[in-house]
Amino acid sequence: MAGIHVLDPHVANLIAAGEVVERPASVAKELMENAIDAGATAVTVEISHGGMTFLRVTDDGKGIPADELPTAFLRHATSKLKTESDLEAIGTLGFRGEALAAIAAVSRITVLSRPLEAPFGASLSLEGGVPGAVEEAGCPLGTTIVVRDLFFNTPARLKFMKRDAAEGAAVFAVVQRVALSHPEVSIKFLRDGKQELLTPGDGKLQSAVYAVLGRELALGFTEVKGSGEGMEVSGFVSLPACCRASRNYQFFFVNGRLIKSRLMMAALEEAYANQKMVGKFPGCVLHLQTKLSAVDVNVHPAKTEVKFGSDRQVFDTVYHGVLAALDRDRTRPAVQLKAPVPKPQPQPMPLRVHGGDNSLQQTAIEQLRAPAQPVRPAPPAPPAPRPRPPVNITPPEPEPEPEPKPLPKPQPKPKPLPEPEPNCESSWRVAGEVLNTYIIVEQGETIFLIDKHAAHERLNFDRLKAAGYTPMVQTLLSPAVLRPPAEEGAVLLEHQALLDEFGFGVEEFGSGALIVRQAPFDVDPADVESALLEIAQRLLTTGRADPAGARDALLHTMACKAAIKGGWKTSPQELERVAQAVMSGQVKYCPHGRPVAIELTRKELEKQFGRA
Ligand code: ADP
Ligand code: MG
Repeated sequence: MAGIHVLDPHVANLIAAGEVVERPASVAKELMENAIDAGATAVTVEISHGGMTFLRVTDDGKGIPADELPTAFLRHATSKLKTESDLEAIGTLGFRGEALAAIAAVSRITVLSRPLEAPFGASLSLEGGVPGAVEEAGCPLGTTIVVRDLFFNTPARLKFMKRDAAEGAAVFAVVQRVALSHPEVSIKFLRDGKQELLTPGDGKLQSAVYAVLGRELALGFTEVKGSGEGMEVSGFVSLPACCRASRNYQFFFVNGRLIKSRLMMAALEEAYANQKMVGKFPGCVLHLQTKLSAVDVNVHPAKTEVKFGSDRQVFDTVYHGVLAALDRDRTRPAVQLKAPVPKPQPQPMPLRVHGGDNSLQQTAIEQLRAPAQPVRPAPPAPPAPRPRPPVNITPPEPEPEPEPKPLPKPQPKPKPLPEPEPNCESSWRVAGEVLNTYIIVEQGETIFLIDKHAAHERLNFDRLKAAGYTPMVQTLLSPAVLRPPAEEGAVLLEHQALLDEFGFGVEEFGSGALIVRQAPFDVDPADVESALLEIAQRLLTTGRADPAGARDALLHTMACKAAIKGGWKTSPQELERVAQAVMSGQVKYCPHGRPVAIELTRKELEKQFGRA
């Protein structure tokens, strides 16, 4: 083994490149960031074979002068900062002066560029970081960079690349994120010659969201606009009923930079506490704008993480911004009706009845009695209008989660009760109840169907959460002996003290069994076992280290047990009270995130009856 020596620049470059260029997606990210920093209004990304053999980024930005082309590919060469103090307020996406050098070190790269004032452009090719000569070239204004044969000279890295489809998906995911981060830039993506994305670049985040995530997802979003100390949050978040089974649709940006942030994620999700189903996650496209000096972006070679000056301020701004958006939202899901029956065309009816054929006559009479049904076999009804599936619904590739660090959980301020909206409350009336479950409310041109149990459960939950639960305890005449599955049994015993507070006297009873001698009055003795199993399951999903979540889990169960039940008779006063809570906007989702009301408009009904 040779002694200690300084690595030659080529090897040093390869090592440094490894940090920045992990896969084709990292190349796409760096080149797109450069284009945006250069003031481009349109950026096109094209790939073949997942970006492994060919990746081209074209922009209409300010270009690179011919004599600066070789410099751009040197390590630590940048036009974006000069002095130490510049590091304190970085307003560009790039600043490390590493990307071009790193990409060039591990590929065959060609750059073609023409600045605004230059009569023609210039090109430069490099292979494994070794530059050729700068040559004059005819080209449009802006810069085009072509990266071929990524990792051709680093077989060890090449081995780790996934199938082309997976690498291509990762590139697409990066392109989508960049498109969401800069709605003022029109972003186009072509994979193997096929266009898969085009954003309008009109500066409206909503347009970018529509183009990138598709109509279905965009319709489930509500707008966020909030501000905190020295910062602003804006964008879109899922309505509680439109949450998803994964976090794949959470996008966070700080000053136009895509970042991973457990802090912002925690703030987002905290705003949905007790408004969404367990195991479902809100989607979001959230932009945080802060003073440049309030974030340190220089903490990660790929620049995907940042350090905030004040975690607390960021948490509060995001949390309260999202919470206010959810409170403000008044949309209720619409009743999904089948496609309207086509209007019957006037046509001769087969009414001639032959002697003695009663069955035919019968049919003719039935047809007459059912005027809404066309006599002829109806043409197949058009399929119910379904939202057009978005073209780009491939879900963006989930990025590998960074190792979770314990998060300080800032205490959110108490949630203010939503202001009742003027005019909204006055004009409604309860028209009745159907199926012993749904309250029908009429308001103007709209009919609401309220799930009385879900709404009452929510009312109870909010009341219990605000005032705390003080149980009336019943001693069970015959104590219940439970043999729950091992995990459920264990989690119940772990929370014995909390259960006791809620009126459940639960003790161990040998070999995995539990005995219950006391239960709260709200729980029917016959339901004690199922209630405790329900609690156990909630406790298991809450996670052991979350005492507030455990308390909410019990509140959920008690709110549910104390609520009026679907299928039961309920007094008109009680129905009125529940309707009042829903119509005032006080109650929107049950504690599991299911909607408590759906609506049907006059217009929709008229369409169904063919009156429109
Ligand atoms: P950084 O972006 O951190 O400055 P890079 O290695 O990515 O470092 O780029 C080096 C320099 O090359 C940039 O500072 C910029 O001046 C120039 N450059 C790179 N890409 C472009 C582009 N698409 N348009 C104009 N200039 C560019
Ligand atoms: Mg850069």
